[in-house]
Amino acid sequence: MSCDCAEFQEYTANLQFRNKSILDIVTKLGEQNALLNRAVFKSVTHCGCIQINASKQIISNDKTLEENKENLTNHVEGELCPRCREKVEEEIGDLLFYLASLCNALNLNLDEVMKYKLSNLKTLGIFNLL
Ligand SMILES: [Zn+2]
Repeated sequence: MSCDCAEFQEYTANLQFRNKSILDIVTKLGEQNALLNRAVFKSVTHCGCIQINASKQIISNDKTLEENKENLTNHVEGELCPRCREKVEEEIGDLLFYLASLCNALNLNLDEVMKYKLSNLKTLGIFNLL
Protein backbone atom coordinates (compact mmCIF):
# COMPACT_ATOMS: atom_id res chain seq x y z
CA MET A 1 0.00 0.00 0.00
CA SER A 2 1.41 3.32 -1.06
CA CYS A 3 1.01 6.22 1.38
CA ASP A 4 -0.51 9.43 0.19
CA CYS A 5 1.78 12.07 1.65
CA ALA A 6 -0.72 14.90 1.10
CA GLU A 7 -3.47 12.95 2.88
CA PHE A 8 -1.08 12.25 5.79
CA GLN A 9 -0.24 15.94 6.14
CA GLU A 10 -3.88 17.01 5.90
CA TYR A 11 -4.93 14.44 8.48
CA THR A 12 -2.13 15.60 10.76
CA ALA A 13 -3.34 19.20 10.47
CA ASN A 14 -6.86 18.15 11.48
CA LEU A 15 -5.57 16.35 14.57
CA GLN A 16 -3.43 19.19 15.86
CA PHE A 17 -4.88 20.60 18.99
CA ARG A 18 -2.60 20.49 22.00
CA ASN A 19 0.62 21.16 20.11
CA LYS A 20 -0.56 23.88 17.78
CA SER A 21 2.27 26.33 18.48
CA ILE A 22 5.40 25.96 16.38
CA LEU A 23 7.34 26.11 19.65
CA ASP A 24 5.57 22.95 20.82
CA ILE A 25 5.97 21.30 17.41
CA VAL A 26 9.71 21.94 17.19
CA THR A 27 10.35 20.73 20.74
CA LYS A 28 8.14 17.66 20.20
CA LEU A 29 10.03 16.92 16.96
CA GLY A 30 13.33 16.98 18.86
CA GLU A 31 11.89 14.89 21.68
CA GLN A 32 10.50 12.37 19.20
CA ASN A 33 13.88 12.09 17.50
CA ALA A 34 15.37 11.18 20.88
CA LEU A 35 12.64 8.56 21.42
CA LEU A 36 13.40 7.03 18.02
CA ASN A 37 17.12 6.88 18.84
CA ARG A 38 16.27 5.29 22.19
CA ALA A 39 14.09 2.63 20.55
CA VAL A 40 16.92 1.72 18.17
CA PHE A 41 19.49 1.53 20.96
CA LYS A 42 17.18 -0.44 23.25
CA SER A 43 17.03 -3.04 20.47
CA VAL A 44 20.76 -3.39 21.06
CA THR A 45 21.05 -3.01 24.83
CA HIS A 46 17.79 -4.46 26.14
CA CYS A 47 16.61 -6.94 23.51
CA GLY A 48 19.87 -7.80 21.77
CA CYS A 49 18.28 -8.66 18.42
CA ILE A 50 20.73 -6.30 16.72
CA GLN A 51 24.30 -5.35 17.56
CA ILE A 52 26.31 -2.30 16.62
CA ASN A 53 29.85 -3.14 15.65
CA ALA A 54 31.35 0.19 14.68
CA SER A 55 34.79 1.07 13.45
CA LYS A 56 36.33 3.80 11.35
CA GLN A 57 35.04 3.90 7.78
CA ILE A 58 37.98 3.81 5.42
CA ILE A 59 37.59 5.64 2.13
CA SER A 60 40.44 5.06 -0.27
CA ASN A 61 41.43 7.60 -2.91
CA ASP A 62 42.74 4.71 -5.01
CA LYS A 63 39.29 3.19 -5.39
CA THR A 64 36.22 4.28 -7.33
CA LEU A 65 33.14 5.57 -5.52
CA GLU A 66 31.38 2.27 -6.21
CA GLU A 67 34.32 0.26 -4.85
CA ASN A 68 34.44 2.45 -1.73
CA LYS A 69 30.68 2.14 -1.31
CA GLU A 70 30.97 -1.64 -1.26
CA ASN A 71 33.48 -1.48 1.60
CA LEU A 72 31.41 0.86 3.78
CA THR A 73 29.07 -0.65 6.36
CA ASN A 74 26.12 0.56 8.43
CA HIS A 75 27.70 -1.15 11.48
CA VAL A 76 24.45 -3.00 12.23
CA GLU A 77 24.58 -6.75 12.71
CA GLY A 78 21.46 -8.88 12.96
CA GLU A 79 17.82 -8.04 12.25
CA LEU A 80 15.19 -6.30 14.34
CA CYS A 81 12.91 -8.83 16.00
CA PRO A 82 9.16 -8.29 15.42
CA ARG A 83 8.69 -6.47 18.76
CA CYS A 84 11.61 -4.06 18.23
CA ARG A 85 10.64 -3.53 14.60
CA GLU A 86 7.12 -2.55 15.68
CA LYS A 87 8.50 -0.11 18.29
CA VAL A 88 10.96 1.52 15.87
CA GLU A 89 8.26 1.83 13.20
CA GLU A 90 5.91 3.39 15.76
CA GLU A 91 8.55 5.98 16.69
CA ILE A 92 9.26 6.74 13.02
CA GLY A 93 5.52 7.24 12.49
CA ASP A 94 5.35 9.68 15.39
CA LEU A 95 8.40 11.50 14.00
CA LEU A 96 6.61 11.81 10.64
CA PHE A 97 3.58 13.19 12.46
CA TYR A 98 5.60 16.04 14.00
CA LEU A 99 7.44 16.61 10.72
CA ALA A 100 4.08 16.98 8.94
CA SER A 101 2.97 19.26 11.79
CA LEU A 102 6.01 21.46 11.22
CA CYS A 103 5.19 21.62 7.51
CA ASN A 104 1.62 22.63 8.34
CA ALA A 105 2.76 25.39 10.69
CA LEU A 106 5.09 26.82 8.04
CA ASN A 107 2.71 26.32 5.09
CA LEU A 108 5.05 23.84 3.48
CA ASN A 109 3.97 20.86 1.45
CA LEU A 110 5.65 17.68 2.69
CA ASP A 111 4.94 15.92 -0.59
CA GLU A 112 6.65 18.70 -2.56
CA VAL A 113 9.61 18.64 -0.17
CA MET A 114 9.99 14.89 -0.75
CA LYS A 115 9.66 15.23 -4.53
CA TYR A 116 12.24 18.05 -4.57
CA LYS A 117 14.65 15.99 -2.49
CA LEU A 118 14.12 12.91 -4.66
CA SER A 119 14.87 15.01 -7.74
CA ASN A 120 18.09 16.25 -6.09
CA LEU A 121 19.09 12.71 -5.20
CA LYS A 122 18.49 11.55 -8.76
CA THR A 123 20.46 14.46 -10.22
CA LEU A 124 23.40 14.39 -7.84
CA GLY A 125 23.39 10.66 -7.14
CA ILE A 126 26.07 9.56 -4.74
CA PHE A 127 27.64 13.04 -4.73
CA ASN A 128 24.61 14.30 -2.81
CA LEU A 129 25.63 12.12 0.13
CA LEU A 130 29.29 13.06 0.38
ZN1 LIG B 1 14.46 -7.04 19.46
